[in-house]
Amino acid sequence: MNGFPERARRVMARCDELAAITSEPGRIDRYYLTPEHRTCSDRLARWMEAAGMTVWEDAAANLWGRYAAAADATPPVRALILGSHHDSVPNAGRYDGPLGILTALAAVEYLNQEGIRLPFHVDVVAFGDEEGTRFGTTLLGSYPVAGHWQPEWWDLTDRDGITLGEAFRQFGLDPAGIESCARDPDGVLGYLELHIEQGPVLEHGGYPLGVVTGIAGARRFSVTLEGEAGHAGTVPLSLRRDALLGAAEAALVVERVAREQDVMATVGRVDAVPGAVNVIAGEAVWSLDLRATDDERRDRALELIRNETDRLCTERGLVPSWRETHSAPAVACARGLQSHQSRALEAMGLEPVQLPSGAGHDAMAMARMTDVGMFFIRCAGGISHHPDESVLATDVGLGIEAMVRTLLNLASASATPE
Ligand SMILES: [Zn+2]
Repeated sequence: MNGFPERARRVMARCDELAAITSEPGRIDRYYLTPEHRTCSDRLARWMEAAGMTVWEDAAANLWGRYAAAADATPPVRALILGSHHDSVPNAGRYDGPLGILTALAAVEYLNQEGIRLPFHVDVVAFGDEEGTRFGTTLLGSYPVAGHWQPEWWDLTDRDGITLGEAFRQFGLDPAGIESCARDPDGVLGYLELHIEQGPVLEHGGYPLGVVTGIAGARRFSVTLEGEAGHAGTVPLSLRRDALLGAAEAALVVERVAREQDVMATVGRVDAVPGAVNVIAGEAVWSLDLRATDDERRDRALELIRNETDRLCTERGLVPSWRETHSAPAVACARGLQSHQSRALEAMGLEPVQLPSGAGHDAMAMARMTDVGMFFIRCAGGISHHPDESVLATDVGLGIEAMVRTLLNLASASATPE
C-alpha cells in the first residue's frame, strides 16, 4: 500500500482551497445555507464525481457521494457512511470539519484507482451544519439524517432575523421535505469520522492518530449565589456575606472534585453584582460545564459539587440557586468499529492509543441511528476553532491509510459470517 504522502498533499491543498471560500476575506467564515455553503458543496461534488461517486444533495443541503459496492455484493447491500462537516465557527481554522470529508474522499480515490470494490457502499457525507454558528443550534446537518428533527428549530433566527425556515427556502430547499433526509438504519453499516483532536493529548504523547472511545456528555449550569452588598470600607470581614468569595471557593471545589472523580469541569465565567471596586458583591453568577464519557460518573461529580457548594454557602451565609442550561448524554463509540480501527493502526506499526472526545461531533447525532467510530488526528498545540489550527501532512497521509485499512478490515469481516 503506497502513495499516501502524495494523497495527503492533495488533501492539504484542498483544505487550503476550501479555506478560501469565506464570507469575510482574510479569515474563514463559512456558514449554513449561505452562498459559501453552495460554493463549497459544488467544489466537493466535482471532486466526488471525479472519484467515481454518484452525488446528491439531501433536503437539509448535506452533500452525499456514493462509491458503489461490488456488483456481486450479497444483498441486502448496506452503506458505510464516512464524513464530517464543512461549516465553520467565526474566524475558524481550515481543518476542523473539512479534513474529515477530504480524507474520506481520499480513501475512496484510493479504492477507485486500485479498482477495489467492497461488499458495502461507501457514502461520503459533507454535513452543512455542525458548529451551529448561524442559527445557534448545533448539528442541524446530521440530526435530520439520524431521523431527529424538532419543529421549533424552524423558528430559530440568524443575526439578521432570518428564520431557519426562510433560509431553507432561500437556498432552494423545501422545509416540508426534511424527513426525507433520514437514512434507514437497516441500510447503514456504521458511521466513521476522522477529525482533528482539538486537544493536546496525542501531540503530548507523540502519537499521530488515536481511536476515539466515546464522546463526552455535557451538562451546563448557571449558578447564582445570593449574599449581601455592602460598603468595602465599613463592613468588617467577619460580618460580610460576600457572594464573589463564595463563587471563588466553589470554583476550587469544582477543580478538586473533577480531579478526584476524573471528569472535565470548568467554571468559565463569573459575574459579580453590582461589580464595583468599592462594593462587596451581593450576588455572584457563575457557569459550570461538566463533561465525562460516562454519564453516571459525571452526575456523581455533580452531586458532590452541589453538596460542597451548599456547605460553603451555609458557612458564608449565601443562598445558592442552580439552573441547568444544557444537557446531552455521552455517546460510546462501537466496540466493533474500534477494534477494526485499532487493527488498522497496528498493521501500520502505530500504537492504537485510545482517547475520549471532550468536544461534540456529528458522530453524536449519527449515534442515534447507527454504530459510530472516530479517528482523532494530532493537531499542533491542541489548538482549534482558531486560524492557527494546524496538522502535519505526514499525519494526514497516515490518517488516509488508516481509513482505507479500516474499510478493508470491515470488508473482510463482513465476508466472514458472524
Ligand atoms: Zn468539527
